[in-house]
Amino acid sequence: MSAMGSGADNGSAGVVGIRVAEGSGVCFGVRRALRLAETALASGKAVYCLGPLIHNPQEMERLAGKGFRVIESLDEIAGVGVLLIRSHGLRPDVVAEARRRGLAIIDATCPLVRRVQTLAVQLQEAGYRVIVAGDARHPEVRAIRGHAPAAVVVNDIEAVRRLDLSGRVALAAQTTFSPEAFREMAAALREHDLEEARVENTICAATVERQRGAADLAAHVDVMFVIGGRNSANTNRLTELCAARGVPTYHVEVGEEVAEAMLRDRPRVGVAAGASTPQWIIDAVCERIKALQCERR
Ligand code: SF4
Repeated sequence: MSAMGSGADNGSAGVVGIRVAEGSGVCFGVRRALRLAETALASGKAVYCLGPLIHNPQEMERLAGKGFRVIESLDEIAGVGVLLIRSHGLRPDVVAEARRRGLAIIDATCPLVRRVQTLAVQLQEAGYRVIVAGDARHPEVRAIRGHAPAAVVVNDIEAVRRLDLSGRVALAAQTTFSPEAFREMAAALREHDLEEARVENTICAATVERQRGAADLAAHVDVMFVIGGRNSANTNRLTELCAARGVPTYHVEVGEEVAEAMLRDRPRVGVAAGASTPQWIIDAVCERIKALQCERR
């Protein structure tokens, strides 16, 4: 069964009381990375990735079964092979080192992440003090700072206020950053006495659409299930947004986590999924919900 709907009520399509939020599931950047991984694996070469290709343990397990190897350091690679750069991107010095060691590179950096990297470098070279709204520990942000080492990373409005700023400043964002928080931070930037405050909204449209779709749906159902890896920042954000609507919200990775009690007296069920959640997992969770709903009838 496919998870049906894109926000429409699916009762007429045979799914019992399940609605799927607009924009749910794998974004084009993740789909592209998965396709490149599958192609590389099909070549028969050893394929490595620094960190999980996507933040979804079940999909990573599926790829591991095909020989995909997640590593923490290039030192773990004994011979030659392929290094796949994940959609978050990678620091240029690490890519150079991989080349020096004779590894073939397949670059699955999402084009929208590449755009932030390029912009940060251009702004830095043009004399701006570059500020990135994001999580300094996130691999995408670490890669951006690898390209533009002088960039400062901040993650909330208070951090912007605390910065000692002057001259020309440019604010960009991690692609999955909260649009509301970014707007607040842009406003806070203008509280400083600056020659120029340039704001570059680099938040990915797929992120905005997914967050809006989940929050809208949460306002019209009795319970929400947000599907995706617990290590997925964008899935965690969806869970927060849905819970903030006051609806009982469960973050699940697999269908087995959905319990009958979660559905009791909650006939209208909403489902949302993070950008790294493949369709086969969304389908499996919807099947589980549907089966439990049918048992209750
Ligand atoms: S969420 Fe957006 S920026 Fe991130 S990989 Fe997907 S399409 Fe690219």
